[in-house]
Amino acid sequence: MATATNFRPRQVTNANAIEMIGVHKWFDKFHVLKDINLTVRAGEKIVICGPSGSGKSTLIRCINRLEAHQRGRIIVDGTELVEDLKRIDAVRRDVGMVFQQFNLFPHLTVLENCTLAPVWVNRLPKAEADAIAMHYLTRVRIPEQAGKYPLQLSGGQQQRVAIARALCMSPKIMLFDEPTSALDPEMVKEVLDTMMQLAKDGMTMICVTHEMNFAREVADKIVFMDRGEIVEANTPERFFSNPVQERTRLFLAQVL
Ligand code: ADP
Ligand code: MG
Repeated sequence: MATATNFRPRQVTNANAIEMIGVHKWFDKFHVLKDINLTVRAGEKIVICGPSGSGKSTLIRCINRLEAHQRGRIIVDGTELVEDLKRIDAVRRDVGMVFQQFNLFPHLTVLENCTLAPVWVNRLPKAEADAIAMHYLTRVRIPEQAGKYPLQLSGGQQQRVAIARALCMSPKIMLFDEPTSALDPEMVKEVLDTMMQLAKDGMTMICVTHEMNFAREVADKIVFMDRGEIVEANTPERFFSNPVQERTRLFLAQVL
């Protein structure tokens, strides 16, 4: 198998990886994001938590433009997400995403799931894409599953494939949307360990999760959302020891 000769993980080149400035979004008349202001610096790890329906998924989906916002500005590593953005594919390449439900292609093997976009979008030679995929499958500790189909794997293994698949595009930023919520409890740790490793390697990350031990250990900043607003954003120390808002306290009482 070829080695990944030309392969270099990419990094955010601007001081701010993501800037959201006065962002609003509506679904028809429903005001789902209200005046969101959030700056993520290069290499920072942000955890977003909050009740179901508070707009967490919508917020991170706006960052790779799976959803469009209607007011305010979103700038991803120097590129503003605007209506007539020609290079939306470039932004999507910069921003990897991992979903609650894995979203693997069931009819493709683990290896094929990992090489599809590198070959078809990034035009990498197949042998090189294979080598990169094996590199990341090794990093998420399942290289031996490369020839299997997703449904032959446990949920935790499938989610690690999803993480490896995203990394194969060499993203500058990774977004995680409740990546452990669909897993049986005994599989949560293996996925969180993978995410922690990625954090230690310096990846810029936004993780929507209610895993508060993960947040405590990894997050530079914890953001609490409720009803479309950022209610509170603080370091883990302050967030847990001295939540400013009553809504934050009530939420913490439920998840801790
Ligand atoms: P969370 O991830 O915090 O649970 P979401 O961002 O998924 O919240 O959803 C926020 C609100 O927006 C919810 O009330 C949800 O029903 C609504 N919503 C989400 N997606 C859509 C959509 N495509 N069309 C209309 N409403 C939506
Ligand atoms: Mg959600």
